[in-house]
Amino acid sequence: SRQILIAGNWKMNTRKADAVALAKGVVAGVGKNPSVEVALCPPSVYLDAIADVVAGSPVELGAQNVYAAADGAFTGEVNPSMLTDVGCRFVILGHSERRAIMGETDKQVSEKLHAALAGNLVPIVCVGETLEDREAGNTEKVVETQLRGSLEGLDEARAAGVVIAYEPVWAIGTGKTASPEQAEEVHAFIRKLLAELFSDDVAGQMRIQYGGSVKPNNAKELLGQPNIDGALVGGASLKVEDFMGIINPA
Ligand code: 13P
Repeated sequence: SRQILIAGNWKMNTRKADAVALAKGVVAGVGKNPSVEVALCPPSVYLDAIADVVAGSPVELGAQNVYAAADGAFTGEVNPSMLTDVGCRFVILGHSERRAIMGETDKQVSEKLHAALAGNLVPIVCVGETLEDREAGNTEKVVETQLRGSLEGLDEARAAGVVIAYEPVWAIGTGKTASPEQAEEVHAFIRKLLAELFSDDVAGQMRIQYGGSVKPNNAKELLGQPNIDGALVGGASLKVEDFMGIINPA
């Protein structure tokens, strides 16, 4: 059975002092034996500071992006070895904001995926349709294309350790959550596609998170769906109380 993974994607928010305070609050709230796996993904400049806060606790660290190359002349970039050096376990790849704003392609996401795995990071590969895609009836087609492209060249032996995040773009930061049924429908489709790409067994082990306006008041129902194995949380991960309300929904 798949362990629920709740990850906070802080995006480009916080300053060092409030990042540290937020992480301290989560560490205190989670305690020693959380019922779910919890990860925090701060801006890269604060990873090292947050690593100190989560050290010795069950809370794990993740980065929001990585560059697929070894050390060298890549001004402004950070590689997997640097991320594990400061204590990262996870790395978010192909977030819709990176796809839309930085023009990241499925091919780049697949290069990052291979670099992340080679560097002992657990990739969280994000996919999701826009409102236009959904209204045109293209949700499955778009998600399938992104997944096939982003997971290109991934062997079955490594796939079980990869996390997928389904984040419908129209639900991100909009307060419009996909209904549990809408989300489950796409998650089940993703699981079926993963079984085709790998095997039933591997697809059954892979975690598929939902992201897009996850809040304390909708987390329980979303996480109760059979194919939803966690949440990738943006806005609500910036407040200890909200994030804890997602980790331990009432
Ligand atoms: P919100 O929770 O703010 O909608 O963001 C979701 C997201 O993009 C997480 O990666």
